[in-house]
Amino acid sequence: KPVIQITDLTKVYQMGHTEVHALAGVSFDVKENEYIAIMGPSGSGKSTLMNMIGCLDTPTSGEYILNNNRVSEMDDAELAEVRNREIGFVFQTFNLLPRTSCLANAELPLIYAGMKSAERKERAKEVLTKVGLGDRVDHKPNELSGGQRQRVAIARALVNNPSILLADEPTGNLDTKTGEEIMLLFEELYRQGNTIIVVTHEQEIADHARRIVRLRDGLIETDQVVENPILAG
Ligand code: ADP
Ligand code: ADP
Repeated sequence: KPVIQITDLTKVYQMGHTEVHALAGVSFDVKENEYIAIMGPSGSGKSTLMNMIGCLDTPTSGEYILNNNRVSEMDDAELAEVRNREIGFVFQTFNLLPRTSCLANAELPLIYAGMKSAERKERAKEVLTKVGLGDRVDHKPNELSGGQRQRVAIARALVNNPSILLADEPTGNLDTKTGEEIMLLFEELYRQGNTIIVVTHEQEIADHARRIVRLRDGLIETDQVVENPILAG
């Protein structure tokens, strides 16, 4: 059974008197434990599709079902709830809280989920250890390198055991070597059974995935298996 079922999704933005069809009828399914890169030139609809998949916004038309949740019919409160439960986000800019520890950052989704403090801290430590930051739990983001900051963001994304890890240009602010280390971590997470979707315009990043979906003008142009994925490390 697919984790994601997207059928004929459209998103139309009204710009004065003209309509922008950011998504013009996109259909695809994602099964459990797939590793997908979404590519395409600037303006092709990547961010819009990511916002749909991530339950940040609803489509103009079409259907999006995420693990039996009919996301395309949800109001904002329902979206927020399903987003926090089902999606782990990783951003180019890390989006960490700067004044609080790694532990507190990683705990955040569990606070929204209503988990008790002791249990939260234990779970947050567990995921920070998993991403190689077990000895950095009390550090603040500004005391860490870029790669370590992104690891904290990945820990935060994983802490809820989400159905999908959704990463938007996750290596965009990192040097090549550090970016490779983050892709190695994604490879490990994929092998452990996670379902990963990476939005990127960099072919070298996409080549780590097992499937590449290419957008153009709000439509899927190609959807292909990666024959020889780069196995990081
Ligand atoms: P990409 O991420 O591939 O660069 P986007 O999804 O950001 O593409 O944008 C797709 C199209 O939709 C572009 O033409 C863009 O200008 C337009 N668009 C995106 N967001 C908005 C918005 N909030 N209002 C109006 N137009 C938008
Ligand atoms: P960019 O792709 O320009 O670097 P980001 O990666 O920071 O931007 O964000 C990508 C998308 O996710 C944007 O549409 C933004 O509105 C949304 N977003 C960013 N941060 C959060 C957040 N903490 N929670 C929910 N949505 C966010």
